Amino acid sequence: MKQFHISYDSDEQFLSELEAINRWRRENASYQVVCRIYSQDMEKEHIGHVCGMLDANMPDALYLGCTSNANILEGSLSEAEILVICTVFEYATTKAHLLQYPFQESNYKEAVDGLKQFCEANPWVKSVEMHATIMNMSMKGFCDEMSSLPRDIQVFGGGAFNPNMDDEYAGVFSKGSGFCEHGIVFLLLGGEDYYTYSRYISGWKPLKRKFRITKADKEVLYELDGRPAFEVYKQYLNIEKNENFFSNTLEFPMFLERGGFHILRCPLAVTEDNALIMSSDMEENAYVSIAYGDPETILRSIWQDGQMIADFQPEVIQTFSCAARRAFWGDLNISKETVMFKDLAPTAGFYTHGEFIRLEGEMLNFNVTLVLAAMREGMPQKEKKVDFCGPTFKKLDKIPMIWRFVSFIEASTAELEAMNRKLTLSAITDGLTKLYNRSEIERRINSALEESRESGDNRVHLIMLDIDNFKKVNDVYGHKEGDRVIIALSDILQKAAESVKGASAGRWGGEEFMLILSGNENEVVMELAEKIRASFAETKFPAAGHQTVSIGVTQVRNRESIDRICSRVDKALYTAKDGGKNRVVKLD
Ligand code: GH3
Ligand code: MG
Ligand code: MG
Repeated sequence: MKQFHISYDSDEQFLSELEAINRWRRENASYQVVCRIYSQDMEKEHIGHVCGMLDANMPDALYLGCTSNANILEGSLSEAEILVICTVFEYATTKAHLLQYPFQESNYKEAVDGLKQFCEANPWVKSVEMHATIMNMSMKGFCDEMSSLPRDIQVFGGGAFNPNMDDEYAGVFSKGSGFCEHGIVFLLLGGEDYYTYSRYISGWKPLKRKFRITKADKEVLYELDGRPAFEVYKQYLNIEKNENFFSNTLEFPMFLERGGFHILRCPLAVTEDNALIMSSDMEENAYVSIAYGDPETILRSIWQDGQMIADFQPEVIQTFSCAARRAFWGDLNISKETVMFKDLAPTAGFYTHGEFIRLEGEMLNFNVTLVLAAMREGMPQKEKKVDFCGPTFKKLDKIPMIWRFVSFIEASTAELEAMNRKLTLSAITDGLTKLYNRSEIERRINSALEESRESGDNRVHLIMLDIDNFKKVNDVYGHKEGDRVIIALSDILQKAAESVKGASAGRWGGEEFMLILSGNENEVVMELAEKIRASFAETKFPAAGHQTVSIGVTQVRNRESIDRICSRVDKALYTAKDGGKNRVVKLD
């Protein structure tokens, strides 16, 4: 395929450039022609005028396009108000088709159904490029529906936009269907000699610390870890609610974990109750982490991932880059992140409102991301291997300072988290036996009783144990040997708790112990108690020889309090003592 471009300045210049393309087509093998038109001129009459000139002077050309935040030509931010990218296919086998539908939350299904039907009837389709107006629309339903397209069809594209990021007016258009303010256009390409490879790159990196979304509705993120979401930005990043909010959060957007992918979402504004208005849908119970954007880190990512684009040996590269990236870099620097691709192939596209790409069958809606679609006709030339990132990495061999800071933060956080885990564990465990302590085992009994009250499942059991004649062990063999006996029984209890479901073992005090079990039948519990008794009785201590333990067992009754069940299990234990010790007694 061969790519030409025309930046519309005047009719005269446009027509003469169009004629030059037509001349090339007459002199070379040329088949299907597809023009993409990106316009930061919001006047639909102006766009219609350009489309009319294409209809009249290149009547066999298909065209599609949208309004944009700005355009990309030769890998760089383009001055052109209206940019026409004309792709001429050089293989007769390459096919193209356009579909355009109205597109809103109420009718997106018609668009997807139409697309699906076409793809099923035309197995030549290999890729779907889409332009859509998506402002104020939740994309979740659309993405879910799109995921059921035949699995090997690639999908990529971007949301139509406006040079003014606060203006919601945008539109899409295509040959034969005209301009639509709430619409979607699909360009389907395929055929046996057409190949495409699409990829997304963000370059923002996630910090390890994760937050759970405890409350969200569509793009409104209310709470993270049970706290108003804005507080995270305020507390950790000192970002204030002021006119710089968006430019500040743009450096620290969020990575949302969805289906194994990390999707960037940017906070656009804060509400009065400290909720965040995000750039697209959030999802309750999903995890997010804060990402950091640093120019050098971003560029390294692009150079590195760009190697895959280079290896594909593209003939053209379509770019869909988020308008937020343009805001992040500024117009002086934005081209740095795409200009390198023009050395591989003609690179053009636009700055979008939301980027789309299908990965492993799943359709995803990104923000703050760069989506690249590389295209080629025919097979790649094996000997032509491009070392895309090599020379650049050699220049950048010094590790960026921000990586050192991130490493410092991550290491300190990991240290604190480990310390925290240790403290939490020591607050709930007993030092000598490593079993749960009394307050933790009481907490577990209470929560098991509460669950049983809610579910009506009464399979909750307590097993209480007390070592027999233990004073004698201490008196005759010493306290140390006594401790050894206590530890040996604790180990048996720990293993017993691990051997059945829903069981915890704790030290009730001194040489008394308690097991709480949920969801087990009476026989299982009695068998376990007997096994503990026998196993302890068989244990031989260096000085104290064999020791024994008495055991009481009971099951919860309907809506019972912790005091009632504990006093019954205590009674069962003392019945075992009275009965001659070294035995298990169950009281119902
Ligand atoms: P019984 O068969 O009726 O249970 O008689 P017993 O001798 O075991 O009587 P009791 O349960 O009252 O004895 C508890 C003893 O356990 C008293 C205390 O000195 C000892 N003890 C409590 N905690 C520890 C400990 O951590 N280590 C040691 N070595 N002894 C302990
Ligand atoms: Mg005792
Ligand atoms: Mg005792």
